[in-house]
Amino acid sequence: MVKGRAAFFVEPKKPLVIKEVEFPDPSYDEVLLKVRAVGVCHTDLATIDGEFPPPPLMPTVLGHEIAGEVVKVGQGVKGVRPGDRVVLSWLWHTCGKCRYCRRGDEQLCDNLVETGRHVLGGYAEYVLAKASHVLPIPDNVPWEYAPAATDAIATPFKGLRVAGAKEGDVVAVWGVGALGFNAIQVAKAKGCTVIALGRSETKLKKALEVGADHVVNTVKEDPVKRVVELSGGGVDVALQLVPTDIVTYEQAFYSLRKGGKLVLLGYPPGKLCLPVIEWGLAEKWVIASLAFTRYDIAESLRLLAQGKVKPVITVYKGLESIHQALDDLRKGKVLGRPVIVMD
Ligand SMILES: [Zn+2]
Ligand SMILES: [Zn+2]
Repeated sequence: MVKGRAAFFVEPKKPLVIKEVEFPDPSYDEVLLKVRAVGVCHTDLATIDGEFPPPPLMPTVLGHEIAGEVVKVGQGVKGVRPGDRVVLSWLWHTCGKCRYCRRGDEQLCDNLVETGRHVLGGYAEYVLAKASHVLPIPDNVPWEYAPAATDAIATPFKGLRVAGAKEGDVVAVWGVGALGFNAIQVAKAKGCTVIALGRSETKLKKALEVGADHVVNTVKEDPVKRVVELSGGGVDVALQLVPTDIVTYEQAFYSLRKGGKLVLLGYPPGKLCLPVIEWGLAEKWVIASLAFTRYDIAESLRLLAQGKVKPVITVYKGLESIHQALDDLRKGKVLGRPVIVMD
């Protein structure tokens, strides 16, 4: 047993409550992590603000983009030792036995245990994890970059993977938030040409800095016309990360070339209205990609280690800074991902 503080989500639309609690020793196949850095995700903000249904476990500790140091291991744990630097994602546990796990789609696991929603998460000094679901952080990856591998890189990485993006492809990245900046870098690492689309000049400038070949301001220009022009007839892959504006999903569809793939990664409320004849005759694909698997996290860590992705982050210091980080995120003031680095 170890004492430490955690930021509890007690009630929607109320601030998190930081208090001291006792973290139990890890059971047979578990490890206890001392949290060193944790990413602050929009999903958590939406949950706190009451826009998402409350987690099954209440009160809970949110936070599912965790980098930590192993401090204790359960009796049955092999291959993970105290002192190891590891990441823990939203996939707290997947069963490995259901139809989806068996075919390599553990993000769809019938028995998924979600970090922060079914068990306590990472806005805390300590967190328990299954040894099977933590992944080692390469030595040269700093604590503050590692959380990105558990979501903000892994999600666009998987999106590009399911779309089969390859060298020479033209990829449109719709949305220039934390995931967008990483999506641009992953696509560049694969040898693709990248067009980034967004509404904020500051963020589009940043998109160019991290490697986008072209940027399009969707407010100032007709995005479909411009993307078709820039790509010479349409893009091979459109990664759609925009969380709010469903119209941009239709625009992304119209800016695909024949055989092009639209990958749904952001989930705005609403319905898509697409022309079936054009869809069929041009053999366009519309694909959903939910989150990631541990494979995608491992590959994201490799890209970080190789310096091929430098996540855009804003660092906050200490557990108390969670309030500030959430508030800045709510006001849209953060460039890239807020990351809380523990003292
Ligand atoms: Zn997240
Ligand atoms: Zn399963």
